[in-house]
Amino acid sequence: MSFESLGLAPALLRALADQGYTQPTPIQAGAIPVVLEGHDLLAAAQTGTGKTAAFALPLLQHLSTAGQTMTRRPRALILTPTRELAAQIYDNLRDYGKHLRISCATIFGGVSMGPQIQALRRGVDIVIATPGRLVDHMQQRTLDLSGVEVLVLDEADRMLDMGFLPPLKRIISALPKQRQTLLFSATFAPEIKSLAMQFMHAPREVSVTPANSVATTVSHEVHPVDASRKRDLLLHVLSKDSRRQTLVFSRTKHGADKLVKYLEQSGLRAAAIHGNKSQNARTRALSDFKSGRVTVLVATDIAARGIDIDQLPIVINFDLPMVAEDYVHRIGRTGRAGADGLALSLVSHDESGLLRDIRKLLAQDIAINEVPGFELSSPLRLDASAPRPKQGQRQPQARSQRQGGQRQGGSSHRPHAHVQGGGGGEHAMGNRKRRPRGSRPAAKA
Ligand code: AMP
Repeated sequence: MSFESLGLAPALLRALADQGYTQPTPIQAGAIPVVLEGHDLLAAAQTGTGKTAAFALPLLQHLSTAGQTMTRRPRALILTPTRELAAQIYDNLRDYGKHLRISCATIFGGVSMGPQIQALRRGVDIVIATPGRLVDHMQQRTLDLSGVEVLVLDEADRMLDMGFLPPLKRIISALPKQRQTLLFSATFAPEIKSLAMQFMHAPREVSVTPANSVATTVSHEVHPVDASRKRDLLLHVLSKDSRRQTLVFSRTKHGADKLVKYLEQSGLRAAAIHGNKSQNARTRALSDFKSGRVTVLVATDIAARGIDIDQLPIVINFDLPMVAEDYVHRIGRTGRAGADGLALSLVSHDESGLLRDIRKLLAQDIAINEVPGFELSSPLRLDASAPRPKQGQRQPQARSQRQGGQRQGGSSHRPHAHVQGGGGGEHAMGNRKRRPRGSRPAAKA
């Protein structure tokens, strides 16, 4: 299967060749022809599958071949849950549309509205927005949505999880009824189906992978550890190769900040990225991580959603996510492009229930390996009564910051148990470095 056979215009084919893409991914092969024919589309695909190009390419083609570009009113609206994802989609559109005269702008919170208003006044073809800030613009009447021909709801499941249903409804009701709607979601949960029923017209469905599958190139490993010794164990793991870029997930923003402080005090270069940070701080943390100035990036689930970072050999779950599906999103940062990746989770007794959920969801083995010097007094309980942390619970403090890291000796891990799941796999592909910007005034896509 080639991009040519999907019916894409020569200007787009040239841009794809410039990107080094040789063939469409399954979601692109499934979605592009359907979207080019003008149908509404309900697509099940998660980050890492090439879903952005699956909607961006036919969208650019539609805008460049039908109607006028650079009118004052945007002709396409892409809604996305996070600022980082909006910035990444902007970068993708700019790459794919480099031989076309299509303009786009990002609209998201955390930065001043002024440049966004100016960009909208000058006129843009595509607006990429997070729902909250878009509603602010609607309220201030700085945005006219009456010319929107194509609506894209990207990571719709996450937008609903983040409580964006009310602004989404408000935005969609301000759009022309006659339009094409494309909805991308990691899963077709009932709420997604109901959103589609309400706002879409006879959508075609494309689903490339079983929902919640993970790249087969990722291996999974758990280090069981007492909650009070997690930080020491993390430091121990990180210290084995202090130059290696590592993404660490924390369940809470507070926990992420404390962890960064601890790692910095221990001599590592770390930064946190979460929703309480200003947009500038988030952008800086990400670009420092990408450039290698910082080797450990500690992220919360929502902040990490959609960040496009180069292939990482390892992702560490400092604590497990409350929702098993988030585990799949987290580890999508490793094992891309067919390269091997390791998803390592530090699991304390109170998280046994979460580990149980993940085991159920996963389609691969999880090796549970104790680290000498960090053994648990009793094994993790993985039966039906396995405990779960209460929502919002903070990470316990380490008794002594350096104690564990110095006390334990060897680095070999003792195999403890193996957990197996069902089948499944996902097409994942390469990543290139990108630098997210803040608000982007209208620029050539
Ligand atoms: P996405 O799922 O849209 O976040 O895409 C994941 C990564 O795959 C991005 O870094 C894209 O640049 C890259 N990508 C998208 N389509 C292709 C393709 N057909 N071949 C190779 N890489 C791709």
